[in-house]
Amino acid sequence: MFSHNSDKIDTQGHPFVGVQWTVVGSKGDNYSVEMTDYGFSCNCPAYRKCKHIKGVEERFENVDI
Ligand SMILES: [Zn+2]
Repeated sequence: MFSHNSDKIDTQGHPFVGVQWTVVGSKGDNYSVEMTDYGFSCNCPAYRKCKHIKGVEERFENVDI
């Protein structure tokens, strides 16, 4: 899967690398977003950085880690 760089999170060596989040899409589909050293990947059909990835990024913005 292709990873999309995150503008907001430095994912290289991040403790959450390899963690997957399940995101529910607009049609009720479940997608899996995974953090990698190179950003985030998602298994939905979009090859751009999709809203599922952006949704996961927003979770990081709202939480102090
Ligand atoms: Zn997606």
